[in-house]
Amino acid sequence: MGPLRFAARDDYAGIDRVVDLERAVARSLTQVQSLAVPRGLRTRLARIAKAFEAPLEGAKRRKTVARALEVLAPMAAPSFAEDLLVRPLSVLPGVGPKRAATFARRSLGCVADLLFHLPARYDDRRALLSVEALQVGLRATFVARVLLVDFVTSRGRGGRFRRVLQAVVGDDTGTVNLKWFHGGEALQGILTKGARILVTGDVRRYRFHKELLHPDVDVLGEDESAPEDPELQRLVADYPALEGVNPRAVRRLLAAALDEYADLVGGHLPEALVLQRRLPEPADALRGVHRPSPDEDVEALRERRSPAYERLVLEELYLLEVGLALRRAAQADRPGIAIRGDGPRTRAAPDALPFRLTGAQRRVWGEIRADLERPHPMNRLLQGDVGSGKTAVAFLAAVAVAESGRQTALMAPTELLAEQHARTLRHLAESGGEATALRIELLTASVPRADAEGVRARVAAGEADLVLGTHALVQRDVRFADLALAVVDEQHRFGVLQRAALGAKGGVAPDVLVMTATPIPRTLALTLYGDLDLSVIDEMPPGRTPVVTEVFRQGQGERVVQLIHQTAARGEQIYVVYPLVEESEKMDLRAAVESAQRIARAFPELRVDLVHGRLDAAARAEAMRRFRCGETQVLVSTSVIEVGVDVPNATLIIVEHAERFGLAQLHQLRGRVGRGTRPGTCALVARGGGEGSEARIEAMLETTDGFRIADADLRIRGPGEFLGTRQHGKLPDLRIADLVRDARLVSVAREAALAQVRDDPGLSQASALRDAVRARWGSRLALADVG
Ligand code: ADP
Ligand code: MG
Repeated sequence: MGPLRFAARDDYAGIDRVVDLERAVARSLTQVQSLAVPRGLRTRLARIAKAFEAPLEGAKRRKTVARALEVLAPMAAPSFAEDLLVRPLSVLPGVGPKRAATFARRSLGCVADLLFHLPARYDDRRALLSVEALQVGLRATFVARVLLVDFVTSRGRGGRFRRVLQAVVGDDTGTVNLKWFHGGEALQGILTKGARILVTGDVRRYRFHKELLHPDVDVLGEDESAPEDPELQRLVADYPALEGVNPRAVRRLLAAALDEYADLVGGHLPEALVLQRRLPEPADALRGVHRPSPDEDVEALRERRSPAYERLVLEELYLLEVGLALRRAAQADRPGIAIRGDGPRTRAAPDALPFRLTGAQRRVWGEIRADLERPHPMNRLLQGDVGSGKTAVAFLAAVAVAESGRQTALMAPTELLAEQHARTLRHLAESGGEATALRIELLTASVPRADAEGVRARVAAGEADLVLGTHALVQRDVRFADLALAVVDEQHRFGVLQRAALGAKGGVAPDVLVMTATPIPRTLALTLYGDLDLSVIDEMPPGRTPVVTEVFRQGQGERVVQLIHQTAARGEQIYVVYPLVEESEKMDLRAAVESAQRIARAFPELRVDLVHGRLDAAARAEAMRRFRCGETQVLVSTSVIEVGVDVPNATLIIVEHAERFGLAQLHQLRGRVGRGTRPGTCALVARGGGEGSEARIEAMLETTDGFRIADADLRIRGPGEFLGTRQHGKLPDLRIADLVRDARLVSVAREAALAQVRDDPGLSQASALRDAVRARWGSRLALADVG
């Protein structure tokens, strides 16, 4: 287009000075002919190429240049390709508005969605089986002849009749049945008797036969000796089933989308990275994923680590990491509150605590104090196992904030935990004399209304230094005189990326410290909490004895009873925990109630209490109080105690229906015992299996190390579940990359992104990248004010 522009400049003043204009244009346009771009566009470009084939002159030359520019100029606009890619699927041949709507309901709204709709698996048609060798339960591809084909009527569920297409096919070694409960009409034409077909599908057993339900079939040429049948040379991509859409249709549409749109997909990775890792162009990567060449390594494809996948994964991660880097940079620049970190009280506080800080606590406190002192908001994640002393460190931060005459809020996920924090922190505040004396207020739904009014008034008047409550309450109902630090205790919940709401409370953003008891692998943490700095307490306070974990199966109740007996005889206390899920809440509750009664009957000398979510807050608090001061010996509860109660004299925890708890939960529960100086026992009572339950119990027996538990959890559940994306929806929804599987690429993308943002903080030299990051992550990362 350069020569054309030049020719047209200043009203065609220079047109005659461009030598070989025609040849240059024609040559560059013929290259376009081979590109996968929409047909209309290709035709238009071909027409221009043709017009320039022969030398032109005078007015005709001008007119042709002008017409060519009309077509070509819009193509130079940065959004040109993007605009084509977001066209609805109805632009593809064979897709009407109705079909497009069906796809759109399955989140395939536009051409780009379809191009990035990745295969679920690959069928290797290069490895053919004989019919005899088909194995029940395995997926297979084979060639056979149609021996018999017919519709039969069968009675389906609810007694209704339905027409089923059945075919018997076979080769020299045997025969097998194929069945289609729906879509048979369309296949009837293909499956003529005697036809040679290629079949792919899952082999199952039906009565005494092997059969394939809804297999994929392709008709092959007649010549059996022709070894080069292209259908047999392929690795075929197979797509996740979409309700109401035939898999063939997906494959056909994808082929069309690839042919007409693949080359419009651009990449954003830095050129050096592309060269260094020898990555294919994005369009070739898409083709490589959807239509792998026959000599491709099928295992690499299946594990999504072929070069094609690597390109797509890196492209996606790179945009995310650039977004995170931009957000961090923006946050670091925002004005914040500088807290004095070296005031006399702050300096005296660590030594005024009733215990010596561990080395890890000391290091982390140093990191937090340095953040507090800076006149920019802190955004820090504090990671550490239950009982590692996170709250104690948060307390030191609150002392520093108070010494600067400002306020701290500590938000807990449950009332119970907020109450416990209040107790722990009041104890710390009282035990350290003047240095640690803080005015602490607790605000939960169970605080009587009149009292709550008083609390709110004192907080608003600046007469409280540290306010404790649940997330909801503190965020919604409290006006602070001067909030400088917000501590968010998330326990094992992942709240990610959307903590912006906190900062929005006052004018100047407060410092934010997020505490989590769920250890997560570092690369994962860096991306999940990509806008946070990370501190880790990886050392337990001294004097903790490791907890012994035991598993009891159905029928081993005697031994559990024995454990209770022995523990109580030593004067120690016992938790019995029942699972509680919403769907079976009533039954679960009944199980807990009955268990409490049973234990009370079996051990008349022990006092037994029951806590559960249905109990009103006052009754719950009272039960907790009785347990804490040893008035009751056994506390039966639904999983509410999971979140951090601290009773050092409790040394036995019995987890009923251990198979129903997640691994992180089990680990948290186990953390309830072994908090004092006496050894603890965690008894997992397994009453049947569930998905992955054996693996979870195995992991519990193997280790007490939170980080290893987290790794195991990740392996068992897979990343989506592990991260709780579905529940919270707060995670970046990655289409291709998988933060766990692609962990090593996460670091690659992260480094490239950091370098990019360091070199060009506003991305002013990379406007296409900036636009892409904004389009993809802008609102998720609140990047509006960035770049
Ligand atoms: P976390 O918040 O990580 O669960 P906490 O700060 O609540 O841990 O500490 C758990 C218990 O250990 C509390 O009773 C606390 O007083 C105590 N504790 C904290 N740090 C230490 C330490 N360095 N030495 C001894 N005990 C400690
Ligand atoms: Mg805690």
